[in-house]
Amino acid sequence: MSASVPHYLIIGGGITGLSAAFYLKKGLEAAGDSPFRISVVEKSLAFGGKIHTLERDGFVIEKGPDSFLARKRPIIDLAYDLGLEHELTGTNPKAKKTFIVSGRKLHPMPPGLVLGIPTQMTPFMKTGLISPLGKLRAAMDLLKPKRMMTEDESLGHFLQRRLGTEVLERIVEPLLAGIYAGDTFKLSLKSTFPQFRAMEQKHRSLILGMMASRKQVAEETAHLPAAIRSSVFVTFKRGLQSLVNSLLEALSTVDLRPGEGVVSVRKSKGHQVEVTFEDGHVEIVEGVIVTTPTYQAAKLLTELPASSVLANIDYISVANVIMAFNREDIPFELDASGFLVPKREGYTITACTLTSAKWLHAAPAGKVLLRCYIGRAGEQSWPAWSDQELIQKARHDIQDLLGIAAEPIFAEVTRLMHSMPQYPVGHLEQLVHFRKELQAAMPNVLVTGAGFHGVGLPDCIRQGKEAAEQLAERVSK
Ligand code: FAD
Repeated sequence: MSASVPHYLIIGGGITGLSAAFYLKKGLEAAGDSPFRISVVEKSLAFGGKIHTLERDGFVIEKGPDSFLARKRPIIDLAYDLGLEHELTGTNPKAKKTFIVSGRKLHPMPPGLVLGIPTQMTPFMKTGLISPLGKLRAAMDLLKPKRMMTEDESLGHFLQRRLGTEVLERIVEPLLAGIYAGDTFKLSLKSTFPQFRAMEQKHRSLILGMMASRKQVAEETAHLPAAIRSSVFVTFKRGLQSLVNSLLEALSTVDLRPGEGVVSVRKSKGHQVEVTFEDGHVEIVEGVIVTTPTYQAAKLLTELPASSVLANIDYISVANVIMAFNREDIPFELDASGFLVPKREGYTITACTLTSAKWLHAAPAGKVLLRCYIGRAGEQSWPAWSDQELIQKARHDIQDLLGIAAEPIFAEVTRLMHSMPQYPVGHLEQLVHFRKELQAAMPNVLVTGAGFHGVGLPDCIRQGKEAAEQLAERVSK
């Protein structure tokens, strides 16, 4: 290809980077027939970033994310774009129950909780999880006035003032820990759950707002194939890796360059960008989309003073221990999807998914797959433990809580260091400042990904697509 062909570089080959490449290619092709070149450069040897499906002895094992919210369009749209819609699958309707640990015992979650917020008051009032005083405090949400303020506040502070400390600590926090693994008093409400704030503003009460939003969810999932419409979470039958593999196939005319880490992104002549690689070579390109974690992006952009905004976003490290068992070693009905463990209970694991009960494709007949989660804000000493210690601690907890004493057939440990971004209070405002400075200095450089506006896979795909559209628009001027 001639040197004058415009070259666009995507840095980071996780789901954000691959989606950005896919939509950039689509956008540039739609804009005209002038030739272009796109490269996706990825520091590690594999594409997919946090997504990693392992197939072992007939099990489909997700070592990173395992599913996504069905109502979020970008990932469903991408599945259709890739011809993967027939691979979508919902959760087992016979394993809908979830439990939460309280007083070192499993208690059923009261029906009608959405993100931990009650939407049916009768089961909530009957649950043994919350004291009578705690329930009364939560019900005050129905009467309390809304707070008139525009500035951000922490998620924990918001939930505490609406529902009280007990509901926050015993139900909502452990549930949300699965998404952010964070300290709710440090997480930004506006960046994590802006819908909570909108509900307070519109309905005055969070509970009333959540009740109203249930109708909206039904409308949002109307577009889904009938087989998965009733499922809150959806995945792909052969694992999330099939999404990555299909993206890589669709990007066959793109230069996919694994094992190439970038060390700096600088302004070159005009709007061109100078990119320096770990091996010292330099490339001058027309446009760049950076999709690495923000602490990496900050290192690439050190010449930009506002990159300190990115450097200041904390990431929590988490691990998971996945264990396979023979069915006869599990001493209970497999009719639940798993359980959550609040911090105050003193266990090592923060949650456990009965993976093969929740996802029927995950294990062969007669076998059971369990996944235990470890690590959250304030519980970051686990990286010093060996894999064997992590397995032992997970086994201790499931023996205590589920009565499973058998030796697993095998165990897989995954360590995801600095993997869960913690959006600080004021995150959105700081990003506006960062983006303004970036655009003024290097208009053809976009920076996006899980550290910005949503950590879920659909949010990452949306952000990759938006960055691609912005870059295509900027370079066409
Ligand atoms: P990443 O996947 O981190 O990709 C960034 C890529 O950039 C990496 O491949 C990295 O190697 C590369 N890179 C870094 N530095 C450089 C450099 N200098 N040069 C070149 N390349 C570089 N979301 C859901 O929706 N559902 C779930 O069930 C779910 N579960 C999760 C479970 C865990 C344990 C974790 C950690 C996250 C989970 N998430 C889930 C969130 C979701 O998986 C992530 O937010 C998402 O995968 C992040 O994608 P990304 O492309 O933005 O970043």
